[in-house]
Amino acid sequence: MSKVIVSPLYDSDVFRMACRQFDQAADAINLPEAIRDRTKWPRRCLAVSLPIRRDDGSITVFEGYRVQHNLSTGPSKGGIRFHPHVTIGEVAALAMWMSWKCSLVGLPYGGAKGGVIVDPNQLSLNELERLSRRYMQELIPFIGPHVDVPAPDMGTNEKIMGWMVDTYSNHVGHLESAIVTGKPIALGGSQGRREATGAGVAYLVTKYLADLKIPVKKATVAIQGFGNVGSETAAALDHYGAKVIAISDHTAAFHSPKGINIKKALEYVRFNKVLKDFDGGDEITNEQLLTMKCTVLAPAALERVITPELAPKLQCRILAEAANGPTTNQADKIINDRGDIEVIPDVLCNSGGVIVSYFEWLQNLQNYYWGRDEVLTKLYAILDRAKDSVEYQRRKFKFSRRLAALTLGIARVAEAKESRGLFP
Ligand code: NAD
Repeated sequence: MSKVIVSPLYDSDVFRMACRQFDQAADAINLPEAIRDRTKWPRRCLAVSLPIRRDDGSITVFEGYRVQHNLSTGPSKGGIRFHPHVTIGEVAALAMWMSWKCSLVGLPYGGAKGGVIVDPNQLSLNELERLSRRYMQELIPFIGPHVDVPAPDMGTNEKIMGWMVDTYSNHVGHLESAIVTGKPIALGGSQGRREATGAGVAYLVTKYLADLKIPVKKATVAIQGFGNVGSETAAALDHYGAKVIAISDHTAAFHSPKGINIKKALEYVRFNKVLKDFDGGDEITNEQLLTMKCTVLAPAALERVITPELAPKLQCRILAEAANGPTTNQADKIINDRGDIEVIPDVLCNSGGVIVSYFEWLQNLQNYYWGRDEVLTKLYAILDRAKDSVEYQRRKFKFSRRLAALTLGIARVAEAKESRGLFP
């Protein structure tokens, strides 16, 4: 067992959850004591205060973080979250998961994550721009195209990445596209990045449906969260012919046994920003969505939404973890013991986002750009390889799929650290 039990700096439910997952995986592969804490603990973090001028002339100071978990295997990589419940512990847990994810799918990156405690919906566009720029300004000494490369996460998007590229580029005196990924195509963004995470989730779901011999066209899908990941997952599964019977966001959830018209829902959200008052289904609660009978349940919003109370009530055949950390450790155990649900764990399920972020970064460094088909073909090839290696590990050691994925990711990070030795 690791000697350090929990850090007071990062202590929180979600960080404990990530640590417990690490400990279980480290035990399962007998990770040597000498390398455990080095592999587990975030390398470094930055906390910043962000004063911005409001439209009414007043000043508000926001708080933000960046945690770099691992820099041993390349620059660290991870999104920036703008959400009122961000904590440094949550950011650290997300950074840890990024490390295992990048390692699992074979990217030359460590893991990082950033966050600002803010509800972006409460800011005007100008205020959001000032906050995004100020946050990037504070990150400048801490990040770089070969040090740490941010990307969008909950509450941030292409537009915000564009402002961040501009802020960083003004500092260095030339356009530095490779400083963030998930940016607009006009600034060096990649074809296919916007839909990459959802496209990857949907692709893996079709592969697991095939393993279960369930035709995609017979599959029903419920999705929690209708932002970047949830809506793109819905669009891709709809395109494959699955029937999306329930969708939700933080304002409302809707169910239609006949299938939700996803094009209409996308259009609705484009104009109204949220699903509230959408007339394409019957309104239900989020809990009803999570526990409804369906072939595929895809939580694509916050972490820790599948609780020990909900786990026995799930009625899906596949739990596709499009969000990071949606299932608590206790709930995970209940689901494992039930044995009737195939879990596609987050580090595999939503890895399409960082894979195409990696492609974007490569294109920026080479100044050589690829077409959408090339991007998606390469994405699917990596996902196929990652799925095969997880399934092999699972069968070989009789692990759960999550344990298989985590042990692969963690072992590779530990091996890199071991190979580098300890400096000084
Ligand atoms: P987003 O901000 O684009 O969308 C988040 C969605 O979740 C919104 O529709 C919001 O209304 C909804 N939501 C928030 N709270 C909710 C609640 N309590 N109940 C129901 N819905 C709620 O964020 P995103 O980029 O789509 O990220 C979603 C998840 O996917 C996060 O866990 C994120 O870490 C993970 N993820 C994102 C990416 C990416 O490329 N954006 C990549 C990998 C993983």
